[in-house]
Amino acid sequence: MKTMRYISTRGATQPMGFQDAVLTGLADDGGLLIPESIPDVSDWLDDWAKLSYQDITYEILRLFVDLPNDDLRELIDRSYANFRHPEIAPAWSVGPIHILELFHGPTLAFKDIALQFLSNFFEYILTRTGQRLNILGATSGDTGSAAIHGVRGRERINIFIMHPHGRVAPLQERQMTSVLDPNVFNIAIEGTFDDCQRIMKSIFSDLDFKQRYSLGAVNSVNWARVMVQIVYYFSAGLYVMDQERVSRVRFAVPTGNFGDVLAGYYASRMGLPINRLILATNENDILARFFNTGEYSLGHVVPTLSPSMDIQVASNFERYLYYRLGEDPAKLTALMRAFGSTGRLSVPPLADGSVDALFAAGVGTTADTLATIRKYHELYHYLLDPHTAVGVHVAEQHLQAGEPTVCLATAHPAKFSEAIREATGKDLAHHEFLDKLADAETRMTVLPADETAVRKFIEEHV
Ligand SMILES: *Cc1c(COP(=O)(O)O)cnc(C)c1O
Repeated sequence: MKTMRYISTRGATQPMGFQDAVLTGLADDGGLLIPESIPDVSDWLDDWAKLSYQDITYEILRLFVDLPNDDLRELIDRSYANFRHPEIAPAWSVGPIHILELFHGPTLAFKDIALQFLSNFFEYILTRTGQRLNILGATSGDTGSAAIHGVRGRERINIFIMHPHGRVAPLQERQMTSVLDPNVFNIAIEGTFDDCQRIMKSIFSDLDFKQRYSLGAVNSVNWARVMVQIVYYFSAGLYVMDQERVSRVRFAVPTGNFGDVLAGYYASRMGLPINRLILATNENDILARFFNTGEYSLGHVVPTLSPSMDIQVASNFERYLYYRLGEDPAKLTALMRAFGSTGRLSVPPLADGSVDALFAAGVGTTADTLATIRKYHELYHYLLDPHTAVGVHVAEQHLQAGEPTVCLATAHPAKFSEAIREATGKDLAHHEFLDKLADAETRMTVLPADETAVRKFIEEHV
Protein backbone atom coordinates (compact mmCIF):
# COMPACT_ATOMS: atom_id res chain seq x y z
CA MET A 1 0.00 0.00 0.00
CA LYS A 2 1.31 3.45 -0.92
CA THR A 3 1.85 5.79 2.02
CA MET A 4 -0.56 8.72 2.01
CA ARG A 5 0.91 12.17 1.54
CA TYR A 6 -0.67 15.49 2.43
CA ILE A 7 -0.93 18.61 0.34
CA SER A 8 -2.20 22.11 1.08
CA THR A 9 -5.51 23.42 -0.23
CA ARG A 10 -3.55 26.51 -1.36
CA GLY A 11 -1.06 24.37 -3.28
CA ALA A 12 2.15 26.07 -2.13
CA THR A 13 3.70 23.53 0.27
CA GLN A 14 5.64 20.37 -0.52
CA PRO A 15 3.67 17.16 -0.01
CA MET A 16 4.38 15.71 3.44
CA GLY A 17 3.74 12.55 5.41
CA PHE A 18 1.02 12.07 8.03
CA GLN A 19 3.24 12.75 11.02
CA ASP A 20 4.40 16.09 9.65
CA ALA A 21 0.87 16.98 8.59
CA VAL A 22 -0.44 16.44 12.10
CA LEU A 23 2.41 18.20 13.87
CA THR A 24 2.13 21.17 11.52
CA GLY A 25 -1.60 21.71 11.93
CA LEU A 26 -2.05 24.60 9.51
CA ALA A 27 -0.05 24.50 6.28
CA ASP A 28 2.73 27.10 6.00
CA ASP A 29 1.04 28.70 2.96
CA GLY A 30 -2.03 29.47 5.05
CA GLY A 31 -4.06 26.59 3.62
CA LEU A 32 -5.32 23.40 5.22
CA LEU A 33 -3.70 20.01 4.78
CA ILE A 34 -5.63 17.34 2.94
CA PRO A 35 -4.77 13.84 1.74
CA GLU A 36 -3.34 13.76 -1.76
CA SER A 37 -6.09 11.33 -2.76
CA ILE A 38 -9.23 9.92 -1.14
CA PRO A 39 -9.15 6.14 -0.77
CA ASP A 40 -12.11 4.12 -2.06
CA VAL A 41 -13.17 1.51 0.48
CA SER A 42 -16.52 0.44 -1.00
CA ASP A 43 -15.33 -3.13 -1.59
CA TRP A 44 -14.65 -3.65 2.11
CA LEU A 45 -17.91 -2.41 3.59
CA ASP A 46 -19.48 -5.87 4.01
CA ASP A 47 -16.47 -7.02 6.01
CA TRP A 48 -16.35 -3.90 8.11
CA ALA A 49 -19.98 -4.22 9.19
CA LYS A 50 -18.93 -7.01 11.57
CA LEU A 51 -16.02 -5.20 13.21
CA SER A 52 -15.76 -3.49 16.59
CA TYR A 53 -15.38 0.29 16.75
CA GLN A 54 -11.66 -0.02 17.41
CA ASP A 55 -11.20 -2.41 14.50
CA ILE A 56 -13.02 -0.14 12.05
CA THR A 57 -10.86 2.70 13.34
CA TYR A 58 -7.79 0.65 12.59
CA GLU A 59 -8.93 -0.21 9.06
CA ILE A 60 -9.66 3.42 8.22
CA LEU A 61 -6.66 5.05 9.88
CA ARG A 62 -4.31 2.56 8.23
CA LEU A 63 -5.17 4.23 4.91
CA PHE A 64 -4.06 7.63 6.10
CA VAL A 65 -1.15 7.23 8.52
CA ASP A 66 2.51 6.28 8.26
CA LEU A 67 2.85 4.36 11.53
CA PRO A 68 3.79 0.72 12.08
CA ASN A 69 0.59 -1.36 12.28
CA ASP A 70 1.18 -2.57 15.83
CA ASP A 71 1.84 0.94 17.08
CA LEU A 72 -1.34 2.18 15.41
CA ARG A 73 -3.38 -0.57 17.05
CA GLU A 74 -1.91 0.26 20.42
CA LEU A 75 -2.64 3.97 20.00
CA ILE A 76 -6.24 3.23 19.10
CA ASP A 77 -6.77 0.87 22.02
CA ARG A 78 -5.25 3.34 24.45
CA SER A 79 -7.34 6.21 23.06
CA TYR A 80 -10.67 4.50 23.66
CA ALA A 81 -9.76 2.72 26.90
CA ASN A 82 -11.32 5.39 29.11
CA PHE A 83 -14.61 5.76 27.30
CA ARG A 84 -17.64 5.09 29.43
CA HIS A 85 -19.49 2.90 26.91
CA PRO A 86 -18.08 -0.42 25.64
CA GLU A 87 -19.26 0.30 22.09
CA ILE A 88 -17.55 3.74 22.19
CA ALA A 89 -20.19 5.34 19.92
CA PRO A 90 -23.51 3.45 20.22
CA ALA A 91 -26.48 4.25 17.96
CA TRP A 92 -30.10 3.97 19.18
CA SER A 93 -33.37 4.10 17.36
CA VAL A 94 -35.34 7.01 18.88
CA GLY A 95 -38.67 7.95 17.31
CA PRO A 96 -38.23 8.61 13.60
CA ILE A 97 -34.42 8.74 13.68
CA HIS A 98 -31.30 7.06 14.97
CA ILE A 99 -29.21 8.88 17.54
CA LEU A 100 -25.48 8.30 17.37
CA GLU A 101 -24.11 8.99 20.85
CA LEU A 102 -20.64 10.46 20.53
CA PHE A 103 -20.41 11.71 24.09
CA HIS A 104 -19.09 8.80 26.12
CA GLY A 105 -15.52 10.09 26.34
CA PRO A 106 -13.82 11.80 29.31
CA THR A 107 -15.41 15.26 28.81
CA LEU A 108 -18.79 14.04 27.55
CA ALA A 109 -18.61 15.64 24.09
CA PHE A 110 -17.80 14.17 20.69
CA LYS A 111 -14.48 15.96 20.50
CA ASP A 112 -12.98 13.41 22.89
CA ILE A 113 -13.17 10.82 20.14
CA ALA A 114 -10.55 12.62 18.08
CA LEU A 115 -8.61 14.39 20.82
CA GLN A 116 -7.90 11.30 22.87
CA PHE A 117 -6.30 9.81 19.79
CA LEU A 118 -4.47 13.01 18.88
CA SER A 119 -2.99 13.37 22.38
CA ASN A 120 -1.73 9.81 22.41
CA PHE A 121 -0.32 10.31 18.94
CA PHE A 122 1.55 13.48 19.99
CA GLU A 123 3.06 11.72 22.97
CA TYR A 124 4.07 8.77 20.80
CA ILE A 125 5.92 11.00 18.34
CA LEU A 126 7.54 13.26 20.92
CA THR A 127 8.86 10.34 22.94
CA ARG A 128 10.54 9.02 19.80
CA THR A 129 12.05 12.32 18.70
CA GLY A 130 12.88 13.68 22.15
CA GLN A 131 11.09 16.93 21.23
CA ARG A 132 8.57 19.03 23.09
CA LEU A 133 5.35 20.57 21.85
CA ASN A 134 3.40 23.66 22.86
CA ILE A 135 -0.20 23.35 21.79
CA LEU A 136 -2.03 26.58 21.09
CA GLY A 137 -5.77 26.40 20.57
CA ALA A 138 -8.95 28.42 20.52
CA THR A 139 -12.20 27.00 21.78
CA SER A 140 -15.84 27.86 22.02
CA GLY A 141 -16.06 25.32 24.81
CA ASP A 142 -15.83 21.64 24.02
CA THR A 143 -12.62 21.48 21.99
CA GLY A 144 -10.55 23.13 24.68
CA SER A 145 -11.94 20.91 27.33
CA ALA A 146 -11.36 17.73 25.32
CA ALA A 147 -7.84 18.83 24.36
CA ILE A 148 -6.92 19.73 27.92
CA HIS A 149 -8.19 16.42 29.22
CA GLY A 150 -6.29 14.67 26.44
CA VAL A 151 -2.87 16.11 27.29
CA ARG A 152 -3.09 16.97 30.99
CA GLY A 153 -0.07 15.76 32.91
CA ARG A 154 1.86 14.64 29.82
CA GLU A 155 5.54 15.34 30.14
CA ARG A 156 6.53 16.73 26.75
CA ILE A 157 3.47 18.85 26.10
CA ASN A 158 2.21 22.24 27.28
CA ILE A 159 -1.22 23.41 26.26
CA PHE A 160 -2.45 27.00 25.90
CA ILE A 161 -6.18 27.24 25.29
CA MET A 162 -7.95 30.52 24.57
CA HIS A 163 -11.67 30.79 25.20
CA PRO A 164 -13.93 33.86 24.92
CA HIS A 165 -14.17 35.22 28.45
CA GLY A 166 -17.63 34.71 29.91
CA ARG A 167 -19.02 33.37 26.64
CA VAL A 168 -18.72 29.66 27.15
CA ALA A 169 -21.21 27.78 29.29
CA PRO A 170 -20.16 27.99 32.97
CA LEU A 171 -19.82 24.24 33.17
CA GLN A 172 -17.67 24.12 30.03
CA GLU A 173 -15.47 26.77 31.57
CA ARG A 174 -15.11 24.77 34.77
CA GLN A 175 -14.28 21.63 32.82
CA MET A 176 -11.28 23.50 31.44
CA THR A 177 -10.21 25.69 34.30
CA SER A 178 -10.47 23.01 36.97
CA VAL A 179 -7.59 21.11 35.38
CA LEU A 180 -4.66 22.29 37.49
CA ASP A 181 -1.83 20.27 35.98
CA PRO A 182 1.22 22.53 35.50
CA ASN A 183 1.27 21.93 31.72
CA VAL A 184 -2.23 23.40 31.27
CA PHE A 185 -2.78 27.15 30.65
CA ASN A 186 -6.29 28.51 30.26
CA ILE A 187 -6.45 31.97 28.67
CA ALA A 188 -9.76 33.85 28.81
CA ILE A 189 -9.82 36.36 25.94
CA GLU A 190 -11.89 39.51 26.32
CA GLY A 191 -13.70 39.01 22.99
CA THR A 192 -15.55 36.42 20.90
CA PHE A 193 -14.56 32.96 19.74
CA ASP A 194 -13.77 34.46 16.33
CA ASP A 195 -11.29 36.83 18.07
CA CYS A 196 -9.63 33.79 19.64
CA GLN A 197 -9.40 32.07 16.27
CA ARG A 198 -8.05 35.19 14.60
CA ILE A 199 -5.30 35.51 17.21
CA MET A 200 -4.43 31.86 16.85
CA LYS A 201 -4.26 32.01 13.06
CA SER A 202 -2.16 35.10 13.14
CA ILE A 203 0.33 33.62 15.61
CA PHE A 204 0.58 30.45 13.55
CA SER A 205 1.26 32.48 10.43
CA ASP A 206 4.45 33.82 12.05
CA LEU A 207 6.60 30.84 11.08
CA ASP A 208 9.57 32.06 13.10
CA PHE A 209 7.57 32.21 16.29
CA LYS A 210 5.87 28.95 15.51
CA GLN A 211 9.21 27.21 15.15
CA ARG A 212 10.95 28.87 18.04
CA TYR A 213 8.22 27.80 20.43
CA SER A 214 7.42 24.43 18.78
CA LEU A 215 3.79 25.39 18.38
CA GLY A 216 1.25 22.80 17.35
CA ALA A 217 -2.51 22.93 16.83
CA VAL A 218 -5.34 20.73 17.99
CA ASN A 219 -8.14 22.77 16.50
CA SER A 220 -10.63 21.20 14.20
CA VAL A 221 -8.39 22.08 11.25
CA ASN A 222 -5.91 19.42 12.34
CA TRP A 223 -6.20 16.61 9.81
CA ALA A 224 -5.96 13.92 12.48
CA ARG A 225 -9.23 15.09 13.98
CA VAL A 226 -11.14 14.99 10.75
CA MET A 227 -9.64 11.59 9.99
CA VAL A 228 -10.64 10.05 13.31
CA GLN A 229 -14.16 11.43 12.97
CA ILE A 230 -14.64 9.67 9.63
CA VAL A 231 -14.77 6.42 11.58
CA TYR A 232 -18.12 6.88 13.28
CA TYR A 233 -19.90 7.57 10.03
CA PHE A 234 -18.80 4.12 8.92
CA SER A 235 -19.50 2.36 12.21
CA ALA A 236 -22.98 3.88 12.58
CA GLY A 237 -23.84 3.87 8.89
CA LEU A 238 -22.98 0.18 8.49
CA TYR A 239 -24.77 -0.74 11.70
CA VAL A 240 -27.98 1.11 10.85
CA MET A 241 -28.07 -0.10 7.24
CA ASP A 242 -27.67 -3.65 8.50
CA GLN A 243 -30.39 -3.24 11.15
CA GLU A 244 -32.89 -1.69 8.77
CA ARG A 245 -31.86 -3.79 5.78
CA VAL A 246 -31.38 -0.81 3.51
CA SER A 247 -28.50 0.22 1.32
CA ARG A 248 -28.36 3.96 1.96
CA VAL A 249 -28.38 6.30 4.94
CA ARG A 250 -28.66 9.96 5.75
CA PHE A 251 -26.69 11.74 8.42
CA ALA A 252 -27.84 14.87 10.21
CA VAL A 253 -24.98 16.86 11.69
CA PRO A 254 -25.20 19.84 14.04
CA THR A 255 -22.26 21.97 13.04
CA GLY A 256 -20.49 25.30 13.44
CA ASN A 257 -16.93 24.83 12.26
CA PHE A 258 -17.77 22.35 9.51
CA GLY A 259 -15.50 19.80 11.22
CA ASP A 260 -17.83 16.95 11.97
CA VAL A 261 -19.77 17.26 8.75
CA LEU A 262 -16.54 17.41 6.74
CA ALA A 263 -15.67 13.97 8.11
CA GLY A 264 -19.04 12.81 6.77
CA TYR A 265 -18.17 14.30 3.41
CA TYR A 266 -14.95 12.28 3.34
CA ALA A 267 -16.85 9.14 4.40
CA SER A 268 -19.17 9.67 1.47
CA ARG A 269 -16.29 10.22 -0.94
CA MET A 270 -14.66 7.04 0.39
CA GLY A 271 -17.67 5.01 -0.64
CA LEU A 272 -20.06 4.92 2.34
CA PRO A 273 -23.52 5.17 0.74
CA ILE A 274 -24.64 8.43 2.34
CA ASN A 275 -27.49 9.77 0.28
CA ARG A 276 -27.77 13.05 2.13
CA LEU A 277 -25.69 15.00 4.62
CA ILE A 278 -28.11 17.18 6.49
CA LEU A 279 -26.24 20.16 7.85
CA ALA A 280 -27.86 21.84 10.85
CA THR A 281 -26.88 25.17 12.35
CA ASN A 282 -28.36 27.38 15.04
CA GLU A 283 -29.06 31.07 14.32
CA ASN A 284 -25.39 31.42 13.36
CA ASP A 285 -26.34 30.07 9.98
CA ILE A 286 -23.55 31.00 7.57
CA LEU A 287 -23.14 27.35 6.53
CA ALA A 288 -26.85 26.68 6.11
CA ARG A 289 -27.13 29.82 3.98
CA PHE A 290 -24.22 28.68 1.86
CA PHE A 291 -25.73 25.31 1.01
CA ASN A 292 -29.09 26.88 0.28
CA THR A 293 -27.89 29.86 -1.78
CA GLY A 294 -24.25 29.36 -2.79
CA GLU A 295 -23.24 32.50 -0.92
CA TYR A 296 -20.96 32.36 2.09
CA SER A 297 -21.10 35.68 3.88
CA LEU A 298 -20.14 36.74 7.36
CA GLY A 299 -22.72 37.82 9.88
CA HIS A 300 -22.33 38.63 13.57
CA VAL A 301 -22.04 35.91 16.15
CA VAL A 302 -25.15 35.67 18.30
CA PRO A 303 -25.13 33.64 21.52
CA THR A 304 -27.53 30.65 21.54
CA LEU A 305 -28.35 27.59 23.64
CA SER A 306 -25.84 25.62 21.55
CA PRO A 307 -22.68 27.65 22.21
CA SER A 308 -20.29 25.22 20.52
CA MET A 309 -21.93 26.17 17.24
CA ASP A 310 -21.88 29.94 17.82
CA ILE A 311 -19.40 30.47 15.03
CA GLN A 312 -19.35 32.49 11.83
CA VAL A 313 -16.05 31.68 10.15
CA ALA A 314 -16.10 27.88 9.77
CA SER A 315 -12.44 26.96 9.81
CA ASN A 316 -12.82 23.61 8.03
CA PHE A 317 -14.98 24.96 5.25
CA GLU A 318 -11.93 25.67 3.12
CA ARG A 319 -11.30 21.94 2.77
CA TYR A 320 -14.77 21.38 1.38
CA LEU A 321 -14.47 24.41 -0.87
CA TYR A 322 -11.28 22.98 -2.34
CA TYR A 323 -13.18 19.94 -3.59
CA ARG A 324 -16.19 21.99 -4.62
CA LEU A 325 -13.95 24.15 -6.83
CA GLY A 326 -12.60 21.10 -8.63
CA GLU A 327 -9.42 20.72 -6.53
CA ASP A 328 -7.95 23.88 -8.01
CA PRO A 329 -5.62 25.56 -5.45
CA ALA A 330 -5.31 28.76 -7.51
CA LYS A 331 -9.07 29.24 -7.69
CA LEU A 332 -9.41 28.45 -4.00
CA THR A 333 -6.65 30.85 -2.99
CA ALA A 334 -8.22 33.66 -4.98
CA LEU A 335 -11.62 33.01 -3.44
CA MET A 336 -10.27 32.85 0.12
CA ARG A 337 -8.29 36.07 -0.42
CA ALA A 338 -11.43 37.79 -1.65
CA PHE A 339 -13.32 36.45 1.35
CA GLY A 340 -10.59 37.78 3.61
CA SER A 341 -11.10 41.30 2.37
CA THR A 342 -14.86 41.41 1.67
CA GLY A 343 -16.28 38.85 4.13
CA ARG A 344 -18.16 37.07 1.37
CA LEU A 345 -17.67 34.57 -1.39
CA SER A 346 -19.98 32.61 -3.65
CA VAL A 347 -19.90 29.59 -5.93
CA PRO A 348 -21.99 29.16 -9.07
CA PRO A 349 -24.65 26.41 -8.97
CA LEU A 350 -23.89 22.96 -10.37
CA ALA A 351 -25.52 21.57 -13.53
CA ASP A 352 -28.50 20.29 -11.48
CA GLY A 353 -29.04 23.79 -10.08
CA SER A 354 -27.94 22.87 -6.55
CA VAL A 355 -24.96 24.09 -4.56
CA ASP A 356 -24.22 20.43 -3.81
CA ALA A 357 -26.86 17.70 -4.13
CA LEU A 358 -25.20 15.66 -1.35
CA PHE A 359 -26.12 18.34 1.18
CA ALA A 360 -29.37 19.57 2.64
CA ALA A 361 -29.18 22.38 5.18
CA GLY A 362 -31.39 24.08 7.71
CA VAL A 363 -31.55 26.12 10.89
CA GLY A 364 -32.79 25.23 14.35
CA THR A 365 -33.63 28.37 16.29
CA THR A 366 -33.64 28.67 20.06
CA ALA A 367 -37.39 28.01 20.05
CA ASP A 368 -36.93 24.95 17.83
CA THR A 369 -34.17 23.69 20.12
CA LEU A 370 -36.33 23.93 23.22
CA ALA A 371 -39.37 22.43 21.49
CA THR A 372 -37.34 19.50 20.18
CA ILE A 373 -35.80 18.75 23.58
CA ARG A 374 -39.26 18.85 25.13
CA LYS A 375 -40.81 16.67 22.44
CA TYR A 376 -38.15 13.95 22.56
CA HIS A 377 -38.34 13.86 26.31
CA GLU A 378 -42.12 13.61 26.37
CA LEU A 379 -42.61 11.22 23.48
CA TYR A 380 -39.52 9.05 23.64
CA HIS A 381 -38.08 9.65 27.12
CA TYR A 382 -34.80 10.63 25.53
CA LEU A 383 -32.86 13.72 26.58
CA LEU A 384 -31.20 15.64 23.75
CA ASP A 385 -28.52 18.19 24.46
CA PRO A 386 -29.24 21.52 22.69
CA HIS A 387 -26.66 20.94 19.91
CA THR A 388 -28.11 17.55 19.12
CA ALA A 389 -31.60 19.05 19.28
CA VAL A 390 -30.66 21.46 16.49
CA GLY A 391 -29.58 18.47 14.42
CA VAL A 392 -32.73 16.50 15.19
CA HIS A 393 -34.96 19.45 14.38
CA VAL A 394 -33.44 19.88 10.93
CA ALA A 395 -33.25 16.10 10.40
CA GLU A 396 -37.01 15.83 10.91
CA GLN A 397 -37.56 18.16 7.98
CA HIS A 398 -35.60 15.90 5.65
CA LEU A 399 -36.89 12.43 6.49
CA GLN A 400 -37.11 10.02 3.60
CA ALA A 401 -38.82 6.60 3.67
CA GLY A 402 -36.41 3.70 3.15
CA GLU A 403 -33.44 5.84 4.04
CA PRO A 404 -32.85 5.97 7.79
CA THR A 405 -31.43 9.18 9.24
CA VAL A 406 -28.66 9.06 11.81
CA CYS A 407 -28.32 12.24 13.86
CA LEU A 408 -25.01 12.84 15.56
CA ALA A 409 -25.46 13.46 19.29
CA THR A 410 -22.51 15.67 20.04
CA ALA A 411 -22.76 16.27 23.78
CA HIS A 412 -24.20 14.65 26.88
CA PRO A 413 -27.33 16.57 28.00
CA ALA A 414 -25.84 17.13 31.45
CA LYS A 415 -23.30 19.50 29.91
CA PHE A 416 -26.18 21.85 29.12
CA SER A 417 -28.54 21.18 31.97
CA GLU A 418 -29.86 24.77 31.98
CA ALA A 419 -31.30 24.31 28.50
CA ILE A 420 -32.85 21.00 29.56
CA ARG A 421 -34.46 22.71 32.52
CA GLU A 422 -35.73 25.51 30.34
CA ALA A 423 -37.21 23.03 27.87
CA THR A 424 -38.76 20.52 30.26
CA GLY A 425 -39.27 22.58 33.40
CA LYS A 426 -37.35 19.92 35.31
CA ASP A 427 -33.82 19.43 36.51
CA LEU A 428 -33.28 16.16 34.66
CA ALA A 429 -29.81 16.25 33.20
CA HIS A 430 -27.03 15.17 35.51
CA HIS A 431 -23.76 13.36 35.31
CA GLU A 432 -21.69 12.43 38.31
CA PHE A 433 -18.47 13.68 36.72
CA LEU A 434 -19.96 17.14 36.12
CA ASP A 435 -21.75 17.40 39.46
CA LYS A 436 -18.39 16.98 41.17
CA LEU A 437 -16.99 20.06 39.38
CA ALA A 438 -19.30 22.45 41.20
CA ASP A 439 -16.83 23.18 43.97
CA ALA A 440 -13.57 22.36 42.24
CA GLU A 441 -10.66 24.81 42.40
CA THR A 442 -10.08 26.65 39.10
CA ARG A 443 -7.32 28.62 37.39
CA MET A 444 -7.18 30.89 34.32
CA THR A 445 -5.59 34.10 33.02
CA VAL A 446 -7.70 36.89 31.49
CA LEU A 447 -6.06 38.68 28.53
CA PRO A 448 -7.29 41.35 26.09
CA ALA A 449 -8.22 40.31 22.53
CA ASP A 450 -4.74 41.27 21.44
CA GLU A 451 -2.21 39.03 19.75
CA THR A 452 0.81 40.65 21.43
CA ALA A 453 -0.51 39.89 24.88
CA VAL A 454 -1.01 36.24 23.97
CA ARG A 455 2.48 35.94 22.46
CA LYS A 456 3.99 37.44 25.56
CA PHE A 457 2.09 35.03 27.77
CA ILE A 458 3.36 32.07 25.76
CA GLU A 459 6.96 33.34 25.83
CA GLU A 460 6.79 33.70 29.57
CA HIS A 461 5.33 30.27 30.25
CA VAL A 462 6.96 27.73 27.94
C1 LIG B 1 -17.80 21.32 18.51
C2 LIG B 1 -19.20 20.96 18.71
C3 LIG B 1 -20.12 21.00 17.66
C4 LIG B 1 -19.75 21.48 16.29
O1 LIG B 1 -18.72 20.74 15.72
P1 LIG B 1 -18.08 21.14 14.33
O2 LIG B 1 -16.73 20.55 14.31
O3 LIG B 1 -18.14 22.59 14.23
O4 LIG B 1 -18.93 20.52 13.30
C5 LIG B 1 -21.40 20.58 17.92
N1 LIG B 1 -21.79 20.18 19.13
C6 LIG B 1 -20.94 20.14 20.17
C7 LIG B 1 -21.45 19.69 21.50
C8 LIG B 1 -19.62 20.51 20.00
O5 LIG B 1 -18.78 20.44 21.03
